[in-house]
Amino acid sequence: MIHCPLCGVVPVPEEDLPVILPTHYQLKDPRSPLLDDPEFTQVACPQCGAAARRETDTMDTFVESSWYYARFACPDAGQMLDQRAADWLPVDQYVGGVEHAVLHLLYARFFNRLLRDVGLLPADGAHDEPFRHLLTQGMVLKDGSKMSKSKGNTVDPQGLIDRYGADTARLFILFAAPPEQHLEWSDSAVEGAYRFLNRFWRLVHEYGATPPALPAELSAEAVDLRRAVHQCIDRVSRNMDGRYHFNVAIAAIMELTNSLMKVPADAPADLRAVLGEGLRALTLLLAPFAPHIAEVLWQKLGQSGVISHASWPVADAGALRCDTVTLVIQINGKLRERMDFPADADHASVEQTVLADSAMQRHLEGKTVRKVIIVPGRLVNVVAG
Ligand SMILES: [Zn+2]
Repeated sequence: MIHCPLCGVVPVPEEDLPVILPTHYQLKDPRSPLLDDPEFTQVACPQCGAAARRETDTMDTFVESSWYYARFACPDAGQMLDQRAADWLPVDQYVGGVEHAVLHLLYARFFNRLLRDVGLLPADGAHDEPFRHLLTQGMVLKDGSKMSKSKGNTVDPQGLIDRYGADTARLFILFAAPPEQHLEWSDSAVEGAYRFLNRFWRLVHEYGATPPALPAELSAEAVDLRRAVHQCIDRVSRNMDGRYHFNVAIAAIMELTNSLMKVPADAPADLRAVLGEGLRALTLLLAPFAPHIAEVLWQKLGQSGVISHASWPVADAGALRCDTVTLVIQINGKLRERMDFPADADHASVEQTVLADSAMQRHLEGKTVRKVIIVPGRLVNVVAG
């Protein structure tokens, strides 16, 4: 644009575009060097020929930030975008602060449609929007208010990293709150994350690298522990994949760690084997949160290769299955007993077992059973009078 004292703002005629910027400047201060270059600023008005001034604010920052995601897909392209942008876009997951939730995202959508309309992205319906999913991060608060340099209440994570290591700093931040919520900074929670990693570190080191093989037949205790291991895998996977509930995932990892710590060193071989399975799974589940420690523990557990190349664990549906279910047994709505049944027991066999139970027979002495109501997985109510 050219500012003419007579004509006002006049666009540079199309045949004079593009205006090539000078490249001979030495950048000294944050001001645009164009401002001090009369060769650039002093021009003739394209309309009337009067002495006029060329605009130096040549491009708004939003022009770049509104389509950088597309250029990132083909950074060395000789034109604005090439086929790689079409191949990679739209962005699967966009992460940003809430301060970008209106302007930047709105402009990015405008630009994306423009790129599509001028043929730089395919008009195939799949490239109308720049981003598939948006995660808006919460802010970090200190003593209830937003951390800011002007308030002087910022915490430098470098201090945490120096004192506790990057794994603790990362685990603490991810455990403190779901990513879309504000995070209240707490020094004591940092200690908690540090102690947890130390506990897990010791547990793996006490266990060592030579787990017994998992026997075909497991004791009831080993079956229960194995179920806890696979429930944890299931819970962590579900809370990370697409949901980003990292704090819930970490809570599940801590919970299983506590369960595994209760297995004594002289436990039977099947229990020790399940413990080994659990430690390998936990190390894999922990790796995204505490990658450095996980890498060392992976070697300690005798695993080959680096953990970041290892496959994510998959919950074993068989291990998740509960073989027995405990039912509350009531007589006329009052709790009398609790009894275990095979998970797949049918109503007839549950009823038969309840009525044949000697304790129940004592409760029912002198009464006539009128009806047996079974709520699967929960309770049996014997109506008698
Ligand atoms: Zn003019």
